[in-house]
Amino acid sequence: MRVPFSGGCACGALRYECSAEPMLSWKCHCRDCQRACGSAFYAVLYVPKEVLSITGESKYYDMKGGSGATVSRGFCPQCGSPVLAKASGWPEFMAVCAASLDDPSWFSPVVDIWTSSAQPWDYLNPHSSKYARQPTPEEFQVLLTSRG
Ligand SMILES: [Zn+2]
Ligand SMILES: [Zn+2]
Repeated sequence: MRVPFSGGCACGALRYECSAEPMLSWKCHCRDCQRACGSAFYAVLYVPKEVLSITGESKYYDMKGGSGATVSRGFCPQCGSPVLAKASGWPEFMAVCAASLDDPSWFSPVVDIWTSSAQPWDYLNPHSSKYARQPTPEEFQVLLTSRG
C-alpha cells in the first residue's frame, strides 16, 4: 500500500485522504454491520483520527453497538455510500470502509469479529484471527500492537 491513500463515496461528494498506514483492519460480521453495508460483513480499517482529512458533506447515523458503545456510521447524504464510522469507546480512531478506498486491492484483513453471527453463505479466511463477539479492550490493544 501507499501512503497517503484516499477514497470516497460513489458520487464523489464525500472524499478523504489519510496520511498514515492503518492501525488495524478487520471484517465485522455483526448484524448491525450487515444491515449498514448491505452485505455479509463490514470491511474496515482503523486510522488515528488526526491523520484523516475529510472533504465534503457527511451524515452520521448513531446506533448502540453490541458492546454498549455508540457506533456512528458516516455516509454520503447524496448517494448513501457507507464511508466512515466511529465508536464512542475508541474516540481516537476513525474507521474507513474498505470498499470506499480508491484502490481497495491492498486491503488485507486478518481478523474476523462477531463470527457468531457470520452468515453461512459467507466465506471466512481459515487463517484469520477470529472473535465470536467484540474483542475486549485488552484484546483490541493486542491487535493494535500486532497491526492485525
Ligand atoms: Zn456520494
Ligand atoms: Zn459490526
